[in-house]
Amino acid sequence: MRFVHAPWYMKNITGLFSKEKGANKGFTAQYAVFWIFFKDKKGMENKTLINHELIHHEQLKELTPFLFLPIYLGNYIFNLFKYKFDRDLAYRNIRLEKEAYQNENNHAYRKNRKRYAWMKL
Ligand SMILES: [Zn+2]
Repeated sequence: MRFVHAPWYMKNITGLFSKEKGANKGFTAQYAVFWIFFKDKKGMENKTLINHELIHHEQLKELTPFLFLPIYLGNYIFNLFKYKFDRDLAYRNIRLEKEAYQNENNHAYRKNRKRYAWMKL
């Protein structure tokens, strides 16, 4: 796993999923298979943020990118309708994100995690 500083345009792309405006718009970290992109250097030392992204890595290992991406995006689109196009709520209720957000503070979680835990959320 490589931790890298995100290129400037990444903030603009992920900003599309966020309803926030201004400087906080977009992401703090983004998991992308072998890389974790961080918006700033501070994020690279944030254990909670790193744990969150590594939970996505565990999900990806069991799903492969071929299933991870369609499930992630399909769940997001479904949620857009479910939550009346509230993009932030739609994003936070993606099952794969729910597992990561609910357990990002539990640093032992990845060791004890049950496979496909996100399915039960
Ligand atoms: Zn996430």
